[in-house]
Amino acid sequence: MDLKKIIALGLAGIFLLTGCAERREVAQQMLENKKMENRHEATTFAMDTVMSFIVIDEDGDELIIDAEQEIRRLENLLSITLENSEISKLNAAAGKEPVELSNDTMILLEAGKNLGAGTGGAFNIAISPIVKAWGFTEEEHHVPTREELDALLPLTDASDVVFIDASTAYLQKEGMAVDLGGITKGYASDKVASLLKGKGVESAIFSLGGNVYGIGTKPGGEKWEVALANPLDANDYCGLISVEDCAVVTSGGYQRFFEENGKKYHHIIDPVTGYPAESGLLSVTIICESGTEADVLSTALFVMGLEDALEYWQKYGGFEAIFITEAGEVVATEGADACFVFEGSGNDFTYRVVESE
Ligand code: ADP
Ligand code: MG
Repeated sequence: MDLKKIIALGLAGIFLLTGCAERREVAQQMLENKKMENRHEATTFAMDTVMSFIVIDEDGDELIIDAEQEIRRLENLLSITLENSEISKLNAAAGKEPVELSNDTMILLEAGKNLGAGTGGAFNIAISPIVKAWGFTEEEHHVPTREELDALLPLTDASDVVFIDASTAYLQKEGMAVDLGGITKGYASDKVASLLKGKGVESAIFSLGGNVYGIGTKPGGEKWEVALANPLDANDYCGLISVEDCAVVTSGGYQRFFEENGKKYHHIIDPVTGYPAESGLLSVTIICESGTEADVLSTALFVMGLEDALEYWQKYGGFEAIFITEAGEVVATEGADACFVFEGSGNDFTYRVVESE
């Protein structure tokens, strides 16, 4: 994806709307002003995407540097494209030998495998050979043949990712590989949130390539507001989601794709077909306390499509979701509706809420 687009998306990711000052008590305004003096912002590029931070704290600049360091530490462990990452070493040893891994890598592999199993395999950490065949890993895109995909699909069984002991994993078949691209940024957002909270931060919001996490509220006590991107227009949005101490993660086919012979192919793969998921959805946004879970679910529910995704939500709960369909419908679960203001009617989107049964 080109840099301009990534930056536009990153910037569109967070909207901070100021409150109505006239109606506030003078004392509270002064307190707010004091807090706003402590407002620190930064934007950086890591994990192949734009990341932006707003931290309300007198040590905000140093805290953002700490956060960036933590993100780079995780990237060095988990990246599939960095040759010396633990994931690259694990992938290189597939079918040969078990590999000793650090705590974070083990946690993420186990979380990815277990959460993926919970989604019935819609999220699959062993999908890498297919993602690679489409050229998304090295950014050398091309449409693979059906034969190529059929030969690779048997190498994408997540149950072949096995844990020998608490610090050792093994990929049982040669040619297998794990790709944590659909979960790493969510996990990183949880780690950064607990790092900042652990250092006393009570008010912050950050976006790791669209994986947003809001700590506490804005200085005035109002909730943070996150824009729901319009998948058809990078400079537009379909509404605002208010959050307090939770993650908001969006997955969509519009974020990373290429075109061949007039057809678009995006980066979220249906593990059953090996093709980019054609589920009738343009995007899925998950609102939930865990950034890791939100990241997995946004990818998995995109693969499932609206009907199966709503069934999954009804059955398991623990998160809220907003779907945007190819038919132009914005569909919010009951709990998502409670913190969402729909603003997409000007763009011919319609809005519907689904109640829990
Ligand atoms: P992004 O990383 O662009 O925010 P996602 O969180 O939806 O988007 O993750 C997509 C990435 O996850 C892909 O680039 C690929 O590396 C990987 N991936 C693609 N399809 C799947 C899948 N079905 N299950 C798990 N990971 C996937
Ligand atoms: Mg994801």
